[in-house]
Amino acid sequence: MVGQVLFPKLREPDDGEALRFGDRALTYRELAGAAGAVAERLGGKRRVAVWATNSLETAVAVIGGLCAGAAVVPINPKVGERELAHILGDSEPELLLAESGFTAPDGFGTVPVAEIDVTARRPAPHDDAVPDAPALIVYTSGTTGPPKGVVLPRRAIAANLDALSEAWQWTEADVLVHALPLFHVHGLILGTLGPIRLGGSVRHLGKFDTSAVAEELSGTATMMFGVPTMYHRLAADAEQDPQLGGAIGKARLLVSGSAALPAVEHERIERLTGQRVVERYGMSETIMNCGVRADGDRRPGYVGRPFAGVELKLVDEQGAEITASDDETVGEILVRGSNLFSGYLNRPDATEAAFSDGWFRTGDMAVRAPDGYVRIVGRKATDIIKSGGYKIGAGEIENCLLEHPAVAEVAVTGEPDPDLGERIIAWVVPVGEASEQELIEHVAGLLTPHKRPREVRLRESLPRNEMGKVQKKALLAEGGHG
Ligand code: ATP
Ligand code: MG
Repeated sequence: MVGQVLFPKLREPDDGEALRFGDRALTYRELAGAAGAVAERLGGKRRVAVWATNSLETAVAVIGGLCAGAAVVPINPKVGERELAHILGDSEPELLLAESGFTAPDGFGTVPVAEIDVTARRPAPHDDAVPDAPALIVYTSGTTGPPKGVVLPRRAIAANLDALSEAWQWTEADVLVHALPLFHVHGLILGTLGPIRLGGSVRHLGKFDTSAVAEELSGTATMMFGVPTMYHRLAADAEQDPQLGGAIGKARLLVSGSAALPAVEHERIERLTGQRVVERYGMSETIMNCGVRADGDRRPGYVGRPFAGVELKLVDEQGAEITASDDETVGEILVRGSNLFSGYLNRPDATEAAFSDGWFRTGDMAVRAPDGYVRIVGRKATDIIKSGGYKIGAGEIENCLLEHPAVAEVAVTGEPDPDLGERIIAWVVPVGEASEQELIEHVAGLLTPHKRPREVRLRESLPRNEMGKVQKKALLAEGGHG
């Protein structure tokens, strides 16, 4: 069987810049040499975990491991003790590369990731393991039970990155800037493996910083990948500093994902930078499902159409396909295609439950416009509120509240209610003066009265994870005690 090469340019490297972290950079020739050293350090080991913060060493460890044909298990550096023990016990890495000072549970020896010598120059490994070989085992955040290991084969990563390259006209001429975590699909597969597969370069900022982004984009960087909270900060700073907005506007492509980019935010960024953000939708299990193309219509609130190699359909509660394309009829998104994971590690039960007739059930709810554009309305588990006999999407109410000038951030949840089934609660981070009643009436006036929150709870901030996603489970747990 022909192997699946992930990084063609590391086989014939040149002196073009591949990876930059702060003021340290590696050319393709240097990266190939450092990857060779990682492969030698692995000495044929098949599975290596990397538990470390964003750094040049962390990125080289992952790329080197993949080139050597090993499966890499990236672990969130902030993981708690119990979760770490679960992940290590479940994935059984033969080598654990860890940040200096991190200690693993008994039985797991660690090698400091700092020992990865990025200045080493060894022959680059072959990078041609079989296409079905696991490349990454990514753990879900574990909101609904112990985290599950999502096994992503080499062929899925290659196929999906090539589809993104086509859709975004993403080539070796592109310089990508971002500050995303390296343990998650967004920052790792799209933000790091993507540029290296395509032969371009990536500048990792280490920490997100709006002026650093602006500096890169007004210089040689052509694209930025970010999560909505980052675009929120860019917009807020551009509001104060028009020059910053102008610099961001020089980008060829601004891409947002990992959570919904509110339509108001999309419009605000356009107003301040002259750029319309391209939104895409993906998940650990599927890498990227759909997105707006570089030459496509960048419509606020929509995540475009499926990428090449991906089939997508919406189904109703009985699992029957929804054929209506009317921007109204909500269904669960099911996908199949070359982008899919091969299963949850050691969890045949969970894998089986996640599929229906070969289609992966995403748990995300969406509508499809007549031209096939997908608009996500929220997650089946937390964003669909059943109130007064209606099924109401939290996202619609969140977007509506964000249009109110006194609302900086918002999350909408449902809480059990004896009369309504569930009552709508809005958790609001305010910026100005607005009474609870005013916000409730704002929703009732713009949407329909049954979609109005029954209660507004003001907060200084919302619980978010590293990707900036609001942790609705934490809000639900907080319940009425706020
Ligand atoms: P867990 O599965 O452990 O609960 P998670 O689903 O948040 O965690 P990821 O796989 O990183 O972990 O996230 C995928 C989810 O993020 C999708 O299922 C979807 O709900 C959401 N998402 C990603 N991109 C978008 C987007 N552009 N718009 C709306 N939601 C998005
Ligand atoms: Mg998920």
